[in-house]
Amino acid sequence: MSNQYPFLRLGDVNRRYEAELIEAAVRVIQSGRYVGGDEVTSFERELGEMVKTKHVVGVSNGLDALRLILRGYIELGEMAPGDEIIVPANTYIASVLAVTDCGLTPVLVDADIHTMNIDYDLIREAVTPSTRAIMTVHLYGRIAWDERLMAIARKYNLKIIEDCAQAIGGRACIPGINGSYQAGGLGDAAAFSFYPTKNIGALGDAGAVATNDPALAKAVRALANYGADRRYHNIYCGGNCRLDSLQAALLRVKLPHIDEENGGRFERALVYERMISHKNIVKPFMSRWVTDNVWHQYVIRVTDGKRDRMKEELLKRGVETDIHYAVPPHRQPCYAGLAHGELPVTERLASEVLSLPISSCTSVSEAAEIAKIINNIEL
Ligand SMILES: *Cc1c(COP(=O)(O)O)cnc(C)c1O
Repeated sequence: MSNQYPFLRLGDVNRRYEAELIEAAVRVIQSGRYVGGDEVTSFERELGEMVKTKHVVGVSNGLDALRLILRGYIELGEMAPGDEIIVPANTYIASVLAVTDCGLTPVLVDADIHTMNIDYDLIREAVTPSTRAIMTVHLYGRIAWDERLMAIARKYNLKIIEDCAQAIGGRACIPGINGSYQAGGLGDAAAFSFYPTKNIGALGDAGAVATNDPALAKAVRALANYGADRRYHNIYCGGNCRLDSLQAALLRVKLPHIDEENGGRFERALVYERMISHKNIVKPFMSRWVTDNVWHQYVIRVTDGKRDRMKEELLKRGVETDIHYAVPPHRQPCYAGLAHGELPVTERLASEVLSLPISSCTSVSEAAEIAKIINNIEL
């Protein structure tokens, strides 16, 4: 049977913006400016207004955004190669790659089975005199922010770097503080990705760094442009990690629709939450705050070793699913020996997680049909 319920069809996601995207592309083609320039500056300002940080630097992709933050801290003398960065063990591998690429040492901390984000109670044990930062990853769109995280960072003078690749537009509600805080404005620096599959996707690669630290912003901007702080004046051995004007212009079309996009995902998540009831399925936890999860993925756990069966049975019925992620970073060939100690929750998640269609190319009524199909599968 053909896939009646595709996991993600990017053409459908972008179709609603097509006229405006074409207009933006024509504007760039005719401008004669293709890297950086006004489109990038405007995009940086608009993203900064949204995230509420003083500085945003548009860069080539999310991995480079993370790398540039770490490299920036190294250039500023806040970190040195060999220093340790705490990273959730069940993250997408890019979070870890950024750390090792800068000569820093990732220290993997296990996840909380309930939130599937870093287990805040395990962070303290991972801190050593070499620890310089905690990279908090808002995995699957759920904001990973907690009093315990802030307390440990304060106590040991650690930077908090947010990996916001999956959580653009998310807001954390912090107990004791009125109002909410945008993902990307919570920690010392944040990395965004606009890879086409993310909640706001470019039509190619794109990313951004957000921070309130002017020295870091300056270092990141220079490092992304051959290490030059002005033309032909190279203060660092930098790279070429700049944002294209075309991607910036396209992103400026989609960025104002972030709450609508995320709201649509929430609607579908609610349908799954209300309708799925299956003895082998544990649904993702719904917090009482609406905005602290932007549902980049809707990730169920299929228990008792039945995940792969469930995936197969769903595909037979035309429902495409995905696995984020079947192999955690420390099980990848390139990271053999990376994990010191057990990571039982990460291992368990890798064998149980299954992502259901959640993007705008799946309608709310299709989500309801998918839930019914799931409930009728006997494993
Ligand atoms: C996508 C992603 C990245 C990397 O972003 P790219 O733009 O693909 O380089 C980093 N971290 C997480 C958690 C991601 O999901």
